[in-house]
Amino acid sequence: MKVLVAAPLHEKAIEVLKNAGFEVVYEEYPDEDRLVELVKDVDAIIVRSKPKVTRKVIEAAPKLKVIGRAGVGLDNIDLKAAEERGIKVVNSPGASSRSVAELAIGLIFAVARKIAFADRKMREGVWAKKQCMGIELEGKTIGVVGFGRIGYQVAKIANALGMKVLFYDPYPNEERAKEVGGKFADLETLLKESDVVTLHVPLVDATYHLINEERLKLMKPTAILINAARGAVVDTDALVKALQEGWIAGAGLDVFEEEPLPADHPLTKLDNVVLTPHIGASTVEAQMRAGVEVAEKIVEALKG
Ligand code: NAD
Repeated sequence: MKVLVAAPLHEKAIEVLKNAGFEVVYEEYPDEDRLVELVKDVDAIIVRSKPKVTRKVIEAAPKLKVIGRAGVGLDNIDLKAAEERGIKVVNSPGASSRSVAELAIGLIFAVARKIAFADRKMREGVWAKKQCMGIELEGKTIGVVGFGRIGYQVAKIANALGMKVLFYDPYPNEERAKEVGGKFADLETLLKESDVVTLHVPLVDATYHLINEERLKLMKPTAILINAARGAVVDTDALVKALQEGWIAGAGLDVFEEEPLPADHPLTKLDNVVLTPHIGASTVEAQMRAGVEVAEKIVEALKG
């Protein structure tokens, strides 16, 4: 059987495929026309957020039985076309949870202790000690919005740091909350009581601009907002206003309504914001786990 790997994949994942006796063909990010040629005789394809597996690609692959996405989102795969052909689609949604959680915690520290700001000033030759008064996290309250895979990991670390943990999630899992020493609250209470609010919800209709002007105004003026979920969970214009006018103290953002974030965006002009370019899942471990998990699922689907 033949597997087309159409995006960079960890070598351990390739090993899993080869050990199962599959022929592996690798080509990085082929365009649609090239992909149509490549899929003619393959039993499986593995992609990441690229390339797109369109209806045209699926229709050009008579032997295709499974499509693997090393990672979470499936928006680059025509799921309807796959379903019509009875092609299985597998992914690795939990592979990056810990990495995203650790980045969120990193952003909290970076904002709370003004680490990125201080670093920028040092490089400008400015010893900005007086402007770098920070806050400790121990004893503070963290509000985790969305208590799923990533929210759970964030809460576990926050609990170990001595923070009080509040959760907001329409599907509360009380047992898991107890395990990490947290309790559920409604969103309004969470926003009012938290010193750090961190977002870990999927982007769906109900979470589009979940954090808007009205909700930012509920937060403490000393509070920090972290978004490592999806940019559009926060109303960016309202956030810029909140940061400029001091409704909240700072923000750490890994995701944006427009990616890449335009270089002259107002967020880049604010000292109380730490920005990273959507790197939540960018760790050696997450990439390895994502690849291996998908490779194992492909083996299972083709052989099982
Ligand atoms: P998950 O599905 O395990 O958890 C999401 C949680 O959000 C669930 O418990 C769900 O009940 C809850 N939820 C749904 N709607 C809600 C609402 N309206 N209000 C509050 N909670 C709500 O997902 P996950 O694996 O923890 O990932 C969360 C999100 O993180 C993903 O959807 C993705 O957008 C984002 N993500 C970002 C990166 C990155 O690189 N920064 C990487 C991976 C995932």
